[in-house]
Amino acid sequence: MTQISTEQLIKEWQTLLVSTSDSVCASTQQFGKQHALELAQSFYQHMLEDAVAAQLLSHEQVQERLSSSMQRWIITLFSLTATDDLQPIIAQQKHIGDVHARINIPVHLVLRGARVLKETSARLLNDHAQRAECLSFIAALVDMAMEVMSQAYTASNDKITRAEESYRLFSIAQNSAHEKDRQRAALLAWENKAMFDIAMGLHFSQLNTLSASEFGLWFRHKGAHAFEGASETELISATIEKIDTIILPMLKLDNNPEQRQELLRNLHEQTRSIAYHLENLFSQVSELESGRDVLTHLLNRKFLPVVMNKEINYARQHDRSFCLLVIDVDHFKHINDSYGHDAGDVTLQQLASLLSNGCRSGDYVFRMGGEEFLMLLVDIKAAKAIKVAEKLRHLVEKEEFRLPRGITLKITISIGLAEFSGHPDPQKLLNRADDALYQAKGRGRNCVMVAD
Ligand code: GH3
Ligand code: MG
Ligand code: MG
Repeated sequence: MTQISTEQLIKEWQTLLVSTSDSVCASTQQFGKQHALELAQSFYQHMLEDAVAAQLLSHEQVQERLSSSMQRWIITLFSLTATDDLQPIIAQQKHIGDVHARINIPVHLVLRGARVLKETSARLLNDHAQRAECLSFIAALVDMAMEVMSQAYTASNDKITRAEESYRLFSIAQNSAHEKDRQRAALLAWENKAMFDIAMGLHFSQLNTLSASEFGLWFRHKGAHAFEGASETELISATIEKIDTIILPMLKLDNNPEQRQELLRNLHEQTRSIAYHLENLFSQVSELESGRDVLTHLLNRKFLPVVMNKEINYARQHDRSFCLLVIDVDHFKHINDSYGHDAGDVTLQQLASLLSNGCRSGDYVFRMGGEEFLMLLVDIKAAKAIKVAEKLRHLVEKEEFRLPRGITLKITISIGLAEFSGHPDPQKLLNRADDALYQAKGRGRNCVMVAD
């Protein structure tokens, strides 16, 4: 989707504001201030009637904060005049759109919210002298805000969807070598059996089709989904269909030997082409392993939003908790300065494997960039996570980091810990963990601090 530029948006908002009389602007502003609370209340009342919205709004913190930020939003929007700086107001709508995308608020709910605001305004403005003018101004303002929001929402949502997509492929890559061998063997086993049956003079109706074979089932149910969108996937599907509906049915009891030979050759070629495309598909996937951080082979930060959303949904649905540890090496710059960048790299690699080995296999370890790591400990409360964090801190502290030429080195890490609070926005949790890390640095480093 092509995005409308901020300059363009500003121009359009300005056109609206300039063409609205001062008295309508003033009345609308006054109306917004006077009725912000009622408008926000009516908005939430309608939202809570929707099951999806009710789930998202179930967190008290969300309810408390939203009502006041909703009122502020109404007041700001309804108070706009032609002389205002529109940049911040547009930035604010974009931010709201981003948040909506992060916590998966469906677009229809946002639109419904806009409708409720307009309807409630219409009701509340009943006896107002400038009712029609104010209403049309309010409707235009709300629509424009919605437009900016949904544009940001779509852009954000696309990004999240793309990350989900590569995470899906990435999960396949975890196992891809094994799966590839298995499926190639299944394909060849089917071919051998078919060749044998054909050579034995069996009739088409007695043959097992490729799509019903072990390979065919895997491909139709899993492979085609996992590799959706790749041209090889289409080619393999088309070839399976060709084998099953054209080549195999050509086998008749009365085929002469040359015809049979020709069919066998054709079948063999088609199967080989499937094997070839399959090989390509899997090799693309193993390239995706570069979705891992190149230096440490830990998870790349681009998967963080996907993993966080997954874990937040899980925790909310199963009433469980999880914790984030943001881990940063202390005075790392000093290591680079004293021993060189390569030595720094080796240290990071060794630290990465220490961290991965120091947690359970269900936990996630990300390299966030530089000398900062993030661990997501699943199914755990803060009290226990503190013990894990302390254990990691201690492991690092006593580890001898081995540099080339027999040099060893000691390092320490600082850790910020935050437990999932029930808030649906992953960014909130990340910020809390970051703040805790900042405190740990402030406390003199080599320690664990827990977000309140
Ligand atoms: P603090 O205790 O406050 O965290 O101090 P610090 O020196 O660790 O923090 P700072 O953020 O000032 O420096 C981080 C350094 O990490 C700067 C950069 O040179 C180094 N760095 C970032 N990425 C890499 C990398 O991939 N390899 C190496 N060798 N160094 C890196
Ligand atoms: Mg550091
Ligand atoms: Mg750092």
